Amino acid sequence: MEDCLFCKIANGEISCDFVYEDEDIVAFKDIHPRAPVHLLLLPKKHIASLAETTEADIALLGKINFVAQKLAEQFNIDQSGYRLLTNCRGDSGQEVPHIHYHLIGGHFLGAFTEE
Ligand code: 5GP
Ligand code: ZN
Repeated sequence: MEDCLFCKIANGEISCDFVYEDEDIVAFKDIHPRAPVHLLLLPKKHIASLAETTEADIALLGKINFVAQKLAEQFNIDQSGYRLLTNCRGDSGQEVPHIHYHLIGGHFLGAFTEE
């Protein structure tokens, strides 16, 4: 999709160091980390948010969860614990309208609402 920041990052138009890439998914460090580990995982395919996913995306969404588990191991937060979350539309504060999952950890995260 034209003028989508995360499409441009995913397709290499905007350079970015990926911590993970396969044919469907990329992951990279958040530019404004809110914890010692703060990664963003997203599909290369443009989907605006979780609200726009369909049954055809079930495998992709499952794969993102699985990649998150592997990245948690790679970044040594698998034992201490972590959070995987996606913001969806206005009330969530979603800033970038291309579905992405935040993988956050590396210190105690506290109650969900305090993040
Ligand atoms: P949202 O609020 O949409 O769930 O999260 C968007 C996230 O993308 C924010 O945490 C923000 O810091 C991050 N972000 C925005 N622009 C860039 C960028 O150009 N590069 C990287 N690495 N992260 C970005
Ligand atoms: Zn996009």
